[in-house]
Formats: sequence, structure tokens, C-alpha cells
Amino acid sequence: MSEFLTQCAPHILDIPPYVAGRPVSDVMREFGLERSTIVKLASNENPLGMSPHARAAIVDALADASRYPDANGYDLKQALAKAYSVDAACITLGNGSHDLLEMAAHAVLHPGQSAVYSQYAFVVYGNATQACGAEHIVVPVDASMGHDLDAMLAAIKPNTRLIFIANPNNPTGTFIAGSRIEAFLERVPANIVVVLDEAYTEYLDDDDRYDSLHWIERFPNLCVTRTFSKAFGLAGLRVGFGVAGPVLTGLLNRLRPAFNVNSLAQCAAIAALDDSVFLEHSRKINRQGQQRLTAAFDALGLTYVPSFGNFVMVKVGAEKDAGQRVNTALMRRGVIVRPLASYGLPQWLRVTIGTPHENERFIAELSTIAGSARAA
Ligand SMILES: *Cc1c(COP(=O)(O)O)cnc(C)c1O
Repeated sequence: MSEFLTQCAPHILDIPPYVAGRPVSDVMREFGLERSTIVKLASNENPLGMSPHARAAIVDALADASRYPDANGYDLKQALAKAYSVDAACITLGNGSHDLLEMAAHAVLHPGQSAVYSQYAFVVYGNATQACGAEHIVVPVDASMGHDLDAMLAAIKPNTRLIFIANPNNPTGTFIAGSRIEAFLERVPANIVVVLDEAYTEYLDDDDRYDSLHWIERFPNLCVTRTFSKAFGLAGLRVGFGVAGPVLTGLLNRLRPAFNVNSLAQCAAIAALDDSVFLEHSRKINRQGQQRLTAAFDALGLTYVPSFGNFVMVKVGAEKDAGQRVNTALMRRGVIVRPLASYGLPQWLRVTIGTPHENERFIAELSTIAGSARAA
């Protein structure tokens, strides 16, 4: 074996490789399909693409792409500060919000310490904890497959330094009311950092919205993370941000690589933030698509978890590896979704809500597969 490998820390060697949604080009090659016939509903991207204003901003910014980006992201932070009424000094920019999750973990976790997160929570929490050589405290979900906040509080140990919460959560799509998170924060010891990951917050109905960004004034140990990858449609550009009190923000920024958000992404994010028409349209298409998908699942007699994001988790069979069977059958027919065996949910698939056309295509293929399984 290579010597450098045998001398690696064991916790690094134990990091499982990240399993992303399969790229279209991969599936084209494996199944001999034409690009135009493939529907990708695997990575919770915005099916409408991005705001035309963001696209125009990228074209404009290209002229200067030979220059390094603004390391402090001044203009983007100002735009965020204005849009969300927060102090620019409380914002940390990330190469996607994934970057913030890693920064937070590396800032506070060391071998011998622990992080608390929920079963079936976003996969990055486990990976980031592992990369720091820290202990995982994984708390079983409640009866609705959501985070069990009381159990998470009870699971805190003297060595706990970090808690991850996703709201709404991916892949389950479950949601916790803002008032319950606030009550939770009041009970978390102040020496523990809480990362509240709100990657899907833009999709919430108005009645479910809550003002987490201003909680940082009361909770200096809180970091709220947001992203431009989902509702804003900029997943390929990699831009997200964290909002936290000045002390925690200072700590995160010590770990932040100076040029972690590229210049095209910074300009696109500013334009995307300003396009409320595109955002509203995205929310509407999502709500309608969600109703269509869940109606189809009901008609097929499939169990699903009511989702607050731009995806739905559905149980596609009773046998042990139903997810893999249906996933492969869908892929052969040119529909890419996300199997969840790596999350410990081998009977489930996660499907991103697409355009009306994409949703119909997915429903048609799924119905055919379910029909032939019944006939067999
Ligand atoms: C997609 C996602 C993210 C991160 O996405 P980025 O593209 O890195 O911003 C973070 N948290 C959850 C729960 C997600 O689903």
C-alpha cells in the first residue's frame, strides 16, 4: 500500500465518498440514451434554470474573469445585508452553503469532541464531523420522520461542540415550526454552536416563515446557512452564505479560503437576489408540482413524506432494495432520481419537483414500472 495512505489519520480513511445525483452524461453513456430524452430530478435544482437577470450579470462579469474576485465579497454582502436587514459584518460567504457547514465543523470540532445531528439528516453533517475526527451522535427521527428536538437536547454530552439542524430537511422534506426551534435554542448550552441549515427556506409557504436571521442577536452560538443553489437556481456557480453574530462570523472567516466565491457567482447572486418575480414563479411551479406528484403517489398507493422543500421522498416498494430496483428501471427510461440507500432508506427514492412536463414524464414512467411490478 502507498505509504502516504498508511500514515493517514484513520478518521480520514473512514470518510465515505460523497454520492451525488448522477450527471446526465453518465446516464447517457451507461444506457445509450439521447440527452433530449433524459429528465433529471435528482439534485433539487431549480427546474426553471436561473433568473434571466442573473444570466445577464454573468455575461457582463465574464469580461473581468481574468481578475481575482473580491475576497471579501463586498457588493454581495451589501446586497444580502439590504435584502435581509442584517449587518454585513454578520455574513460569511461560502462556495455553496456546503462550504459553511465544513467551516463550522472545522472551527469547533476536534478529535474527542462530538456533533449532534438527526438520523436521515443532510449527509454532509456526518461527513464534516468525520473529517474533523469527531464523534457522531445521531439522534433517531420522530414518528413523522422529522428531527426530534427533545431527543437531540437529551443527547448532548459534555464533549458536544456542534449541533446541525436542517429546516426543511433533505432528504425527508420535514419541517419544524420556527417557534419550536427558538425554544430549542434557548435550551442549548451557550458553548455549543448550532448550525441551522435553511437551504430550502425560500420554498416555505408564507404561514410557515420565521425570522431566524435576527435570532443571532440573542444567540451568539447560532449560524444560519442559506444557499443560492436551490430556489435561486445557481447550483453550478456554488454560492451560499452564513449569518451569525460577529464573534462566530470572525471564527468562520479564519477558515474561509480567501477567494472561495468566484466573481461570476458573486455577480449572479446579486442579480438573483433582486429578481423577486423569478423567485415567486419558482415557488408557484414548485407548489403545483408538489400537488401533482403527491396526487400521483396517492393514486399509485405509494407512501410519501409531506415535503416543505422542492422534492418529495417516496417509498416505492416493500422489498428490501425496492429503491434500487425502481431507480434502475427509471434510469433505463431516462428519468434520474435519487436513491436513498446511502441514507439508510433502501426502499425510498427522493424525487425533485420538476417542470409540469418533467413531472408528467416521471409519473408516467413510475406508473408503468409500478404496473409491471404488480403484474409480475
Ligand atoms: C443542497 C443542500 C445544501 C447545500 O447546497 P450548496 O449547493 O452547497 O449550497 C445544504 N443543505 C441542505 C439540506 C441541502 O439540501
